[in-house]
Amino acid sequence: MNVEKFVYAFNGLNTEGNKDMKDLLGGKGANLAEMSSLGLPVPPGFTITTKACLNFEKDDGVLSESLKTEIKNALNQVEKITGKKFGDSNNPLLFSVRSGARASMPGMMDTVLNLGLNDETVEGLSKLTGNERFAWDSYRRFIQMYSNVVMGFNTAILESTLEDLKEARNIKEDWEFSPADLKELVAAYKRIILEDSGKKFPTDPMEQLWESISAVFNSWKNPRARKYRELHHIPHNWGTAVNVQSMVFGNMGDSSATGVCFTRDPSTGEKRFFGEFLINAQGEDVVAGIRTPAPINNFSKNSSNQHLKSFEELMPKSYNQLCEYYNKLEKHYKDMQDIEFTVEKGTLYILQTRNGKRTSAAALKIAVDMVSEGLKTQEEALMSVKPEDLNQLLHPRLDPKSPKNLLAKGLPASPGAAGGLIVFDSEEAILKKEKGIKVLLVRRETSPEDIGGMVAAEGILTSRGGMTSHAAVVARGMGKPCVAGCTSILIDHNLKKLSVNGSAFGEGDFLTIDGATGEVFEGVIPTIEAEISQEFITFMEWADKRRKLKVRTNADNPHDCEVSLKFGAEGIGLCRTEHMFFAPERILAIREMIFANNSSERSKALKKLLPYQREDFIGIFERMNGLPVNIRLLDPPLHEFLPHSEEEINTLAHYLNLSQTQIKNRAEELFEFNPMLGHRGCRLGISFPEIYNMQVRAIMEAAVFASKNGISVQPEIMIPLVAMKEELEILRANSISEIEKVFAETNTKIDYKIGTMIEVPRAALTANEIAKAADFFSFGTNDLTQTTYGLSRDDAGKFLPHYQKLGLFATDPFVSLDQNGVGQLLEIATRLGRENNPKIHVGICGEHGGEPKSIYFCHKIGLDYVSCSPYRVPIARLAAAQASIVHG
Ligand code: ADP
Ligand code: MG
Ligand code: MG
Repeated sequence: MNVEKFVYAFNGLNTEGNKDMKDLLGGKGANLAEMSSLGLPVPPGFTITTKACLNFEKDDGVLSESLKTEIKNALNQVEKITGKKFGDSNNPLLFSVRSGARASMPGMMDTVLNLGLNDETVEGLSKLTGNERFAWDSYRRFIQMYSNVVMGFNTAILESTLEDLKEARNIKEDWEFSPADLKELVAAYKRIILEDSGKKFPTDPMEQLWESISAVFNSWKNPRARKYRELHHIPHNWGTAVNVQSMVFGNMGDSSATGVCFTRDPSTGEKRFFGEFLINAQGEDVVAGIRTPAPINNFSKNSSNQHLKSFEELMPKSYNQLCEYYNKLEKHYKDMQDIEFTVEKGTLYILQTRNGKRTSAAALKIAVDMVSEGLKTQEEALMSVKPEDLNQLLHPRLDPKSPKNLLAKGLPASPGAAGGLIVFDSEEAILKKEKGIKVLLVRRETSPEDIGGMVAAEGILTSRGGMTSHAAVVARGMGKPCVAGCTSILIDHNLKKLSVNGSAFGEGDFLTIDGATGEVFEGVIPTIEAEISQEFITFMEWADKRRKLKVRTNADNPHDCEVSLKFGAEGIGLCRTEHMFFAPERILAIREMIFANNSSERSKALKKLLPYQREDFIGIFERMNGLPVNIRLLDPPLHEFLPHSEEEINTLAHYLNLSQTQIKNRAEELFEFNPMLGHRGCRLGISFPEIYNMQVRAIMEAAVFASKNGISVQPEIMIPLVAMKEELEILRANSISEIEKVFAETNTKIDYKIGTMIEVPRAALTANEIAKAADFFSFGTNDLTQTTYGLSRDDAGKFLPHYQKLGLFATDPFVSLDQNGVGQLLEIATRLGRENNPKIHVGICGEHGGEPKSIYFCHKIGLDYVSCSPYRVPIARLAAAQASIVHG
């Protein structure tokens, strides 16, 4: 009989999992198993599966008896191997209980260390090791962690008890406590917990174990973890595994240590071993920023830790071993690794490895380097970078020419430059962000509770912690600028003030950070565009070789054209013309046109606009020399152009020689109950042919002009919101007749295309008919999503978040294409369109054109191109390459 297995051992004798079992064992568990099999010194333990977590949830948070039996068996195995016994007062075995989901969620789930300690076992541990201080230090740590993670106790008061005792003893560091101090602390902790929570601290190791396992399972659902998953699009129904592992101790004195290292520099990607460690410390001390961690080697020295001896200097034997292991792991995983290690009295143990988080600059460099080192193929390299992460690379940095007043220098924890109003807590950051104010989050250190504030802030500045502190790791993951460990800044969270070199700053003041250098400046400093690295160019060339989709951009001015070309755009997929009408001299002409009483008055007003539009288009054709430029004719309802303020109404009344009342009346006439479904798009073109004729003329005159100046032009005229083939037929005929006039007048001919946006379901469903009058289709998926769902984008905010919470939308359909519904319409329209017009060119120009998952879909249904905003062009190029690697 095959009984389902919920517990997998990892130890030198019997390892039941491997690195490919992440779904079941979580990332941490799968890799612990893999490392055990590779012969690395991993303390023995076992992993309880994610399936067990899901069952636990189903059973309303109860551990089943059969699971408990399986766990006890695995536990016995660890006892045999280690020769220690769990709960034994002479030779106690202690465990860590560690969470570990499929995707790494650093800092999100909670770990309990030193489990199995009580008043008896602590004595055993003390005798066994001959180290009373260590035993009681472990005990007080255990009580702190367990009471917080498992009992939900707010440990701030335990921490302040510890700080008070430090002060009373006149010591600075935790390790300076005497055994007697630590005993006093343990007694105080237990008393405080009992008084404040009414609960006795559990003394039975077995109870401690069950409760901890349950707590890890429960922590999958805590708000921090949820928030993290929402940010990173991790499904809520994966569950977490639990790793129960025998303890090794980094807090056994000066020959013990704990640390974190990266096989390559996670900020720059340079191939050099990089890391931090603490002597005589345990667990999260390095990450929590309680003490300044020391550098692992010379490469890892920086301004805040260079006075400290490196791991290499202090523990050369362990360092060399660590180097051997990291090389082995990197070769084995073929990726940069983030490794946790502990040294117990001179013996090195490896506690975790995973693909390390990195900045996108580092990701690119590592991917490209690993191809030349033969560790990765080009395709693997392309697949190793998340398209979305390129975002970070393309962002602006500080303008070197602008004056700066350098206040302080911390660690360059996450590159990018950001300035803003300083705030000292996350709530404030969120509130200010909601008001549209750019803020810089300033904290002594951050913790997982600060995630919301970190998301809201432009950048993060901390006064404590190293390159692997919470702030640094999370900021790098988010692609947010971060300066960490800026020790010369003194922060008072209560007074909401910071002081640095004698100057004070409070809420209401502005600072700027440069996360690439660690510098902190006074005020807000202007930024400039990013430069493009050689790795980026090489990498994108590989992507371009692999992709089938073309990538265009949505741009309606020469500056955006230039940015998009720098990023590799292959044309314009959507040039909106309405933005062009808002300049003061133009808006009056537009308004004059709206107020015209008949076609000839309208034409007269439009004539004034013609030269402006022609200039706009010439500028764009010149920039896009040799590439297609798709221009959409006027789309929004006319009343969007009407005056609103009294002043504007006055000016217009004066200009048109009308009364204010006449203006207001006309505005009322144009009122629509539902403008999104109203008089707009091609409907305007049908009612007022002069508008589109003017625009078509401007486009073609510009094309002729540019072409006479040696520019190669490929104009595409796009007619929006077509629902019936007749609409397109009429407007196509009008356009052609206007174009012919321009050709005759200028004695030139130029190739052009006329096509339509597909943005209402009827157009998609009758695409076979529409295709006969169209040279191209471009899916306007913003409107197509609105019209398919019958859902207004502007009003969706009222219930969409609730829908998302309920899981009705995995992602916002305006961000990631709804493939089942809207996607089907794209598929149908493409197929039908090509049936009747095999040469028809098909693309997408909605926001989805820059979103990786939607781009995968566009590739699958065989579109010719996607079009997105300029900064997203590289993201789209990479996503298109990945789609082609994955789907062929
Ligand atoms: P996270 O997922 O937050 O990194 P971990 O489960 O890796 O949490 O635990 C955090 C830290 O606790 C580890 O980096 C390690 O230093 C320490 N730790 C975990 N298990 C053990 C163990 N068996 N022995 C010693 N230290 C441990
Ligand atoms: Mg943790
Ligand atoms: Mg860890």
